[in-house]
Amino acid sequence: MPLSCPNNGVHLRTKEVAVFAIDDKGNSLKSAVIKELGELLREFSIPLDVTDGNLKRSEDVQQIQALLRGSTKNAKIDYDKLERDLRNVRDKERLPYGVVILIDKNRYEFYNPPSQRDRAIYGIGVCDGLVILRHTHKESVRHEFAHMLGLPHHEPPKSGCIMNWECATPTFCEECKRRIERMWQDEIKGG
Ligand SMILES: [Zn+2]
Ligand SMILES: [Zn+2]
Repeated sequence: MPLSCPNNGVHLRTKEVAVFAIDDKGNSLKSAVIKELGELLREFSIPLDVTDGNLKRSEDVQQIQALLRGSTKNAKIDYDKLERDLRNVRDKERLPYGVVILIDKNRYEFYNPPSQRDRAIYGIGVCDGLVILRHTHKESVRHEFAHMLGLPHHEPPKSGCIMNWECATPTFCEECKRRIERMWQDEIKGG
């Protein structure tokens, strides 16, 4: 997770997180992911809408596809590049909401830069409004989305919490719960 998040709160301006499927596989998983994200937001009373990007933001689907294409080489997604490119797009007032992209795990892998200690396998999530999911089981959906909400990993790992690199449980420890509540307290209170 980057130290600075210039676009942190991008999902706040519009109070929206849009989930995009870029192929049939993603389409078949999309409604379950939207439901899962909605449940997580309700757990913390965070007032963000999770929408079907392909429907609600259909005018942006091509841009999402172009971002993905531009960051993919030999079926490996360079997520650092995608994050940078997304930032540039947002500087032009496009995609002003949280973006979740579902990709087919049989077609894509992540390119992990040599400097990266924790390899991305299931998905990636960053605090400036981007999540890419290869796997959509409950643990990885919640873990990556929690990165978008601003939570870092536990370093060293902490047993029983989803925010370890290896997310083996769907639950957040008390420390992580308090962190989310602190970071989002204005929105939680404001409803
Ligand atoms: Zn993580
Ligand atoms: Zn925790």
